[in-house]
This record gives sequence, structure tokens and C-alpha cells, in this order.
Amino acid sequence: MRDKFNLLKKKYSEVADISSATSLLHWDQQVYMPSGGTAARARATSALEELAHRKFTAPETGKLIADLYDWAQSLGHDSFEASYLRAVKRDYDKAAKLPPAFVAEFSKTVSEALGAWTKARADSDFSAFSPYLSKILDLNIRKAEIFGFEKSPYDALLDIYEPGVKKEHIEPLFKKLADGLKPIIKNINANSDRVSGDCLRGVFDEDAQLRLTGEIIKDLGYDLSRGRQDRSAHPFTVGVSINDVRITTRTQKEYLPAAIYGSIHECGHALYAQGVPPEFESTPLCDGASLGVHESQSRFWENIVGRSLSFSKWVLPKYRAHFPGKFDHISPEDLYKAVNKSAPSFIRVEADEVTYNLHIMLRFEIETLLLERRLKVADAPEFWNARMKDYFGLTPRKASDGILQDIHWSLGSMGYFPTYTLGNLLSAQIHNKLSAELGGMDALIEKGDFHTILGWLRAKIHTHGRKYLPDELMKKAINDELRVEPFLDYIKSKYSGIYKF
Ligand code: MG
Repeated sequence: MRDKFNLLKKKYSEVADISSATSLLHWDQQVYMPSGGTAARARATSALEELAHRKFTAPETGKLIADLYDWAQSLGHDSFEASYLRAVKRDYDKAAKLPPAFVAEFSKTVSEALGAWTKARADSDFSAFSPYLSKILDLNIRKAEIFGFEKSPYDALLDIYEPGVKKEHIEPLFKKLADGLKPIIKNINANSDRVSGDCLRGVFDEDAQLRLTGEIIKDLGYDLSRGRQDRSAHPFTVGVSINDVRITTRTQKEYLPAAIYGSIHECGHALYAQGVPPEFESTPLCDGASLGVHESQSRFWENIVGRSLSFSKWVLPKYRAHFPGKFDHISPEDLYKAVNKSAPSFIRVEADEVTYNLHIMLRFEIETLLLERRLKVADAPEFWNARMKDYFGLTPRKASDGILQDIHWSLGSMGYFPTYTLGNLLSAQIHNKLSAELGGMDALIEKGDFHTILGWLRAKIHTHGRKYLPDELMKKAINDELRVEPFLDYIKSKYSGIYKF
């Protein structure tokens, strides 16, 4: 059995190496590639993805998994072998269902769609992206049908990102969250003049922004000998290997938080990816438990740490050093309020932590309707704008402020958005447990001791990589299951303090 397991590991690591090369091509496409390279890049990534898929789904791999599964489980649920087999079986059972021609078509469509979306967004022209969206929607529906589902195609797709979670779990969770957020948002809006975000607007040299964010993420614990930071239109993190985890930053000349909080967010993902044990390299365990758990890490650093008063105290001298004269008359309390200003807005990635989840609810609803064929692609922009009006009282003036703002559909991902809200909810639960065990975080943050906080996350969460499903990991790490209340309590206590209601 040991020889068979070594053979499976060898085969899997070849697939992982091809995927790692593909990740680098995707990274390059968004960071350096000239726009003329789109068609050739689409062919190259599609060829590599098809090759990886073919190798992974070869009948021999399936036979090895079947032969080894019970043996591995007999070594103990927590053993490397048992976890390896559980993870690889989950991936294999899905991948083996997808015909190689479908994988190639999906990959090629996505590469072309990414170029089309980038241009359509720049021109704010939905009609230029709409044929690609239709194609991506059709492919996702086909994918859901291939995977199989009982109630909604949404369930089959969400399961890729958040194993075991279904539309029927999300709906009541989102309802409870919306009901809890509404009175808080009402109070914030009634007292909106109590908080000013003006100190974060003006002209901020973009190279200085990049230098400042580079300094912050290094202090948070991001290992730059195993990572790098570049600019891109949409911030993201990519793990080429445990020892090569890259992030990107979007700078905005006249709005400082885009670069600061985008970088801290991606750094949170990168810290998780760099914290996976080296022995998980090139195995199916070399990842996070789910996208929701991944997002809990990015949102924890971005909001719970990065938007705390103690963080403002720690970071203000850095703001002053990088932007001389601009923050001389700003106190840590002023900065804390400014970075927590909450207001209805168009753009999800720049939304504050109170209204952010409403952006997710809108996307969850629109994707569900599209996938269940209850909404036509052509009618989607109008639906989007109507929901923006309902939730925020705002109507996007252009598609780039509305339906064209997110990259996800052009990457082929549907059923992904709820993981952001699940991550927000989990981040509050993790914060409660971490604070209880470390005796609070504020003193640590104020003196820049992020190492202790990261150490806790590493020991409780990162070190497990993808060994456990999210439910089991949370049980182990925080002895709790996903709940809405801790997040609502956190928001209510923080914002009633800031807005004094
Ligand atoms: Mg994220």
C-alpha cells in the first residue's frame, strides 16, 4: 500500500506542477502581459489545464484512490494519508465527471472573457461583455448538471468553493444578517455627519502608496522572500507554491484606503497560504479549508485588525512618514473614524464592513436567478440597478459602477460570492476565540506585535491546510459552528461607538 501511495503522490505532484505553471500564466496575464497577448495566452492556459485534467482524471489515478482509501482512513482520521485521500477523492470525483473537451472549452472561454471584461469595464459597455457572460452562464449550468444537484444548480457550484453548503443554508443566514444590519445602517445614516473620511482623500503619490503598503504587509508577517507584491486592476493573491505566494495591489491616486486595505486583505490570504506546512507542497492538502475560511483570514486582517483603533495608533506614524504634512493634524481617533466611515456605495471591494454584505446578497440573488434561468443576461443590468436602489438608495450611472465591476464572472466563477460573507461571519467568531485565549488583541496591535496574533492563527488554522472540511476545522479551532450573531454583535458595538448611537 505504501508503494501505491507513493505512486499516487508522484502522479498528483506532476498535476500540481502543471497547475502551478498555469497559476503563473494567470498572474502574468493580470500583471504584465500586453493586451495583444490575450489570444495566445488563452490557448496556452487552456492547453495546460486540459493536460492537467487529463493526467488527474486518468483511470489509473481513480483506481489508486479506490485501492488506497480505506487503508489511509485506517491510519487515523487526522493522519496525513487519511486527509490526503479524503481531499484527493473529493477533487477526483468532481473532475472525473468533466469531459476534457468541456474543460478546454471552459478554459478558453474564460481567457477570452477576461480580456473582453477588462475592455468592457474600461469602456463601461455591458453589451461588449454580455455575449461572454451568456457563454459563461451556459457553461456553468452545464457544469452544475454534470456534477448533479437536487434543488438548484447553485448548490452544485457553491459546493466547489464551500463544500457542503447549499442555497437553502445561505438564504436564512442572509435574511438574519440583513435583518440585523438594517437598524444599524439606519442609525449610521442618521448620524453620518459625525464621521469624516476627508483625510483619506486628496492626492497620494502612488509609488509612496506602494511603499507604505509594502512596509505594512511585511510587519504583519508576510514573508517577501517567499512572495512579492505587484500592481493590477483587481487585487488578488496567487499561490504558485507554498514558497511563492504573490499578491497584487490596486492604487488609486485620490483615495488612499483602496491600496492600504486591498493590500492588507490580500496579505491575509497570503499569510494563510504561506502558513501551510511545507510537507503539504504538491499535495491536495496545499490549500485552505474553503474559500469562506480563506476569506475569514483576509477579512480578519483587513477589518478586525486593520480597522481597529489600536491599528490606527500603530500605523499613523507610517502615514506621516510616507505622506509628509498630510497627517500632521490627524489623531489616531480621527484616522480610526475615517477608515470606518460607513456609507452606501457602488463598489463592493471598497465597501465598508457594515454595508459590504448587502453587496454580496445582491450578487447571490442575481446569480441564483441567472442559473435557475429566471433572469435573462440582457435584463441583468436593470435588475442589478433596481437592487442597488432597494439596498443602498443608489443607481449606478455606468455599468463599470454596477454589473461590470467584479472580475469573477469573467474568470468563470459563479456561486462564489457567498463565501465572502461566510468569511466575514467566521472572522468575528475567530476574533472572539483568539481574544479570549490571548487576553485581548489591542495591546499587541498597538505595539506592532502581529507575530503573536499570526502565531495563534498558524497553530489553530493555517497548519491544517486543507486537511479538514470547514465545519470540522472550525470545531477544532474555535469550538463553534458558523453563526451570524458574533458578527452582528461586533458591528453593533464598534459602530455604535464610532457614530454614537
Ligand atoms: Mg479575498
